[in-house]
Amino acid sequence: MQELTHYLNGAHVKGTSGRFADVMNPATGEVQAKCPLASKAEVEQAVAYAAAAQPGWAAVNPQRRARVLMKFVDLLNRDMNKLAEALSREHGKTLPDAAGDVQRGLEVVEYCIGAPQLLKGEYTDSAGPGIDMYSMRQALGVTAGITPFNFPAMIPMWMFAPAIACGNAFILKPSERDPSVPLMLAELMEEAGLPKGILQVVNGDKEAVDAILYDQTIQSIGFVGSTPIAEYIYGTGCAQGKRVQCFGGAKNHMIVMPDADMDQAADALVGAGYGAAGERCMAISVAVPVGDETADRLIDALVPRIEKLKVGPYTAGTDVDYGPVVTAAAKANIERLVQSGIDQGAKLVVDGRDFSLQGYEDGFFVGPHLFDNVTKDMDIYTTEIFGPVLSTVRAQSYAEALRLAMDHEYGNGTAIFTRDGDAARDFANRVNVGMVGINVPIPVPLAYHTFGGWKKSVFGDLNQHGPDAFKFYTRTKTVTSRWPSGIKEGGEFSIPVME
Ligand code: NAD
Repeated sequence: MQELTHYLNGAHVKGTSGRFADVMNPATGEVQAKCPLASKAEVEQAVAYAAAAQPGWAAVNPQRRARVLMKFVDLLNRDMNKLAEALSREHGKTLPDAAGDVQRGLEVVEYCIGAPQLLKGEYTDSAGPGIDMYSMRQALGVTAGITPFNFPAMIPMWMFAPAIACGNAFILKPSERDPSVPLMLAELMEEAGLPKGILQVVNGDKEAVDAILYDQTIQSIGFVGSTPIAEYIYGTGCAQGKRVQCFGGAKNHMIVMPDADMDQAADALVGAGYGAAGERCMAISVAVPVGDETADRLIDALVPRIEKLKVGPYTAGTDVDYGPVVTAAAKANIERLVQSGIDQGAKLVVDGRDFSLQGYEDGFFVGPHLFDNVTKDMDIYTTEIFGPVLSTVRAQSYAEALRLAMDHEYGNGTAIFTRDGDAARDFANRVNVGMVGINVPIPVPLAYHTFGGWKKSVFGDLNQHGPDAFKFYTRTKTVTSRWPSGIKEGGEFSIPVME
């Protein structure tokens, strides 16, 4: 059995806590590796290495720091297939989707190569007689990130690339379900020229997370994962005086207006609802057709598409639409919620319960499910299922559809499909959700915009990547300097004001 490691101060280091988590192959249901779960002492060791290395890294000029990221991009492209394979093997997603996971992280690394420009400060010449004023953005010091299983390449890169570009050291605590790719990324960053100790990977569970939360050297924490843990990390981290941003769960609605191109809407829904087995925080899990006639047409268009979906292991390459879910527990939870939908009166239009795949009977595969006549009080509507289950809630008007999206406790992403510019514009302006698609089902912003939801999908003020990341990973310092042509008068005793 392969025993995975931590990555500390430039070396793979075996765990010393004696505690391990099983890393599964979700396609076969087999344990393929053991992931060490760090103790407090192991986290403290990583923090000590980071604290020793960080001042030197912050003193490297931003352009040279950016060059490390440039080289890292080359290495990601060189190793793309290897990374995608390792990712699929532990996560279960298809190979093209795994390569997309790496690619969407890589694009943020590319954005961070702009660090010299992004870190430029502000300067006011002659703010007063002989007075100049300038603001600079300085690194925080030692920073940390805690990431979810569903994007084991992209989300770590969304955090560590800007943190490191800004001159911080970064400690990554990835998901214990798929830790191999994060370890590979740390190796590649060092191959790209990053000094030891600037990017470290500490594998672990709640014990490691709590050690990070209460450590007095760590200045900031980025978290992506489920909402209850996001809430816990935000509350605890802030109480410890840290800068914290946490991104949580989702229930993304897609409004389908009567004038929408139904084939386009159905194609979009199938990809956004079932891609990655629904294990995406930007997956569409609720379809909201407006009017019964629209709903009937939508269901008619969806059913044949869903029945044609190919579910299989990543080893099938491009011949598979989605793979297994991540663990047996995730599968059992999805099955429980599907049963609750039936019990609470929703109509199961496509029933994936009997799905099984020859040769992969022990894998965590879940067939696609489509519900119609879902109502607001049902568990399948209120809960994030994180599986290949699409719920249809029929709305009788645009206003009712908008209200549904607005009343849900989550506000990560949403979409509207329509040919009517007025409806689209009204929706984009009024909906209280962070990322909106207009005829685009998964509106994940590109690297140079920012990513973040509203409501219970986020805790904190700044978004991920884009300009917000450079604000999150730096502190502003403002210097007022006075070089008078000759200091003649005595001290000033009232607050200076500009006349
Ligand atoms: P999770 O909350 O179970 O785990 C996330 C991280 O928290 C992992 O590193 C895990 O080890 C750690 N953790 C788990 N339990 C903990 C505890 N009790 N105390 C401290 N730390 C703990 O989430 P997951 O299952 O890995 O990921 C799926 C979730 O992430 C979904 O809810 C999904 O919507 C969300 N997600 C959100 C975004 C976003 O940007 N909003 C992006 C991706 C995923």
